[in-house]
Amino acid sequence: MARLVMKFGGTSVANIERIRNVARHVKREVDAGHEVAVVVSAMSGKTNELVAWCREAAPLHDAREYDAVVASGELVTAGLLAITLQEMGVQARSWQGWQIPILTSDAHGSARIESIDGSDIVRRFTERSEVAVIAGFQGMHKPTGRVTTLGRGGSDTSAVAVAAAIKADRCDIYTDVDGVYTTDPRVVPKARRLDRVSFEEMLEMASLGAKVLQVRSVEVAMVHKVPTYVRSSFDDPADPRPGTLICDEEDIVEQQVVTGIAFSKDEAQITLRGVADRPGVAAAIFMPLAEANINVDMIIQVVSDDRATTDLTFTVPVAEFEKAKKIIEGLRGVTYTELAGTTDVVKISAIGVGMRSHAGVAAKAFKALAEKGINIRAITTSEIKFSVLIDSDFTELAVRTLHTLYGLDHAA
Ligand code: ADP
Ligand code: ASP
Ligand code: MG
Repeated sequence: MARLVMKFGGTSVANIERIRNVARHVKREVDAGHEVAVVVSAMSGKTNELVAWCREAAPLHDAREYDAVVASGELVTAGLLAITLQEMGVQARSWQGWQIPILTSDAHGSARIESIDGSDIVRRFTERSEVAVIAGFQGMHKPTGRVTTLGRGGSDTSAVAVAAAIKADRCDIYTDVDGVYTTDPRVVPKARRLDRVSFEEMLEMASLGAKVLQVRSVEVAMVHKVPTYVRSSFDDPADPRPGTLICDEEDIVEQQVVTGIAFSKDEAQITLRGVADRPGVAAAIFMPLAEANINVDMIIQVVSDDRATTDLTFTVPVAEFEKAKKIIEGLRGVTYTELAGTTDVVKISAIGVGMRSHAGVAAKAFKALAEKGINIRAITTSEIKFSVLIDSDFTELAVRTLHTLYGLDHAA
């Protein structure tokens, strides 16, 4: 007997027929004698609709009320799955975040889980053989008693955190693909499913744009060593196929130099030309951005020939683009000749623990992109990944080029 958490994403619970299919997956594990806690997302599209309604009601709205509204999608699917399981003869009960409770910080809209009391759920496993169906994406801030949400894609984090809290043997993330691929299979048909991927690589892939798992869920899995298995909910519940295990690096026998390619359109580029070059100028620009909580990612500074001025290029999240430009325009004591910016850029990244021991991995990419006529606007590297910023028009071409370059295309 094992203890399992099974998480089902939005497309997997998009209508009653799909919820019925989910219930069959759950029943299979229950019939095999396992203790099961299920975490569900809202029906696909529902959270977007709820977010849009909040904006329509008032563009600048109270974040506590936003959470009250957007948390509701998961309440519906948790109740519906419990009903469907009961109908199939499986003992089940739904749980909202506050009922467990899943306690979080008060950062409404992107709250962090602080603690989960799984004791009731575990007691009901033993006393009643009952399946717990938990609404994902939500929690409660205890001091205020208010409902919170965990940021978009947050049900993944609910699932992994519940798995850690009830000491589950495994957390199964059921989604609309049958695992983690070498890159987004919707963009590259030649993408391959990975049997295993290390926590560290998955963390980079998620942070750099692979939305298959919320970044925070991978952090929680890594810290609490929760074996996390990404698999398809569209499989035949009687005969499920293999997925991708996210595990320790030591448990992976065959390591590639590059494991995956990720891309993110969530970056905007800002360039300051002819910046008076003197000590302290970088601090004068980046400190105010940091104080405004704007995350600067890539930075390139060019020393111009006259050595008196420099060009400075950096990226910020698209959502902060206008705010960042306003801050720069309002700076005192920093002189420059031109402020330019664009959101038509994409950051393409290659990730692999093998980069630690291989030289020239990024250089190969620069050459391959140049041969395709793709201009690189900015570069960053770290121990197990490198990223390039390019025009968004070239997204697919660049991702496919790097995918082939590093031998990731599947054979057929
Ligand atoms: P869910 O609703 O189940 O949470 P998501 O839409 O959040 O599902 O995540 C699954 C999607 O992630 C897939 O449909 C796929 O297009 C996308 N994706 C992006 N990168 C990858 C990758 N490297 N491997 C698998 N899927 C990926
Ligand atoms: N329903 C939420 C969202 O769409 C949470 C999730 O699906 O993980 O962001
Ligand atoms: Mg998701």
